[in-house]
Amino acid sequence: MKIFVSVDMEGVSGLTDPEEMRAGGRGYERGCELMTADANAAVRAAFDAGADEVLVTDSHGSGKNLRADLIDERCTLFRGPYKPMRMAEGLDPSFDVALYIGYHARAGTAHGVLNHTWMGNEIRDVHLNGEVAGEILLMAAYAATLGVPVGLVAGDQAACDEAREVLGEVGTVAVKRGSDRYAAEVIPPARAQRLIYDATARALADRGSWRLREVGAPYTLAVEWSSTAIAQSCAVIPGVKLPEPRTTEFTTSDYTEIVGLLGVWATIAGDVGCTGRHYG
Ligand SMILES: [Zn+2]
Repeated sequence: MKIFVSVDMEGVSGLTDPEEMRAGGRGYERGCELMTADANAAVRAAFDAGADEVLVTDSHGSGKNLRADLIDERCTLFRGPYKPMRMAEGLDPSFDVALYIGYHARAGTAHGVLNHTWMGNEIRDVHLNGEVAGEILLMAAYAATLGVPVGLVAGDQAACDEAREVLGEVGTVAVKRGSDRYAAEVIPPARAQRLIYDATARALADRGSWRLREVGAPYTLAVEWSSTAIAQSCAVIPGVKLPEPRTTEFTTSDYTEIVGLLGVWATIAGDVGCTGRHYG
């Protein structure tokens, strides 16, 4: 059995603060250790379930958050920025199942801890074929094009609710319950990691609970940005439309172009957003 584990940070046990998500921020280094420990709980359960190979991808921001020196030595780790497939780098049809650890709810979700879609400030909303999409749907749809189902989503309660809404009855494990975007009742990480281990073990023992979330081709990705400047900059790319002053749209039958373009748009948006911050 070959298992793919994509690890984001906002849904990691014990973390609630944007500062903890950002290199240089207060608590970030400790956050990286907690992120690695959450990932390790899933990796350990995967090997105990008989996995032959586990690939872990660092899916948050710079992609340099998981501690290579602390990650379970039996897995391999994809790390670093600008990975072409971002949160799904390394995934291919040879994998049996994908596990999403440390995931969060999409932008605008009530009680979603650090809720956002792809970028915290620059993106208001993402739609995939007309359906509002968070990272869970965007990544599950990509995995489905490769024939890989999702077996587990770990994160805050809102992320787990979203996972079941998007995927149906799939394995989930909630490690905190948000009262707001930045505040949550957290399960102490040591216990949360035992819950992740147990949930992973249950999910891997029950192939019937794995969910393939197909979105029919052609795929249309629409992003509503926080500013017209970002949208106009992203619309310079050939094939990208600007149906509204703040919305860019792209259609393709190749889902790798959806993931790739979203990554490139985010790079542009980050740069334009920085200019906006300086000139207000
Ligand atoms: Zn993240």
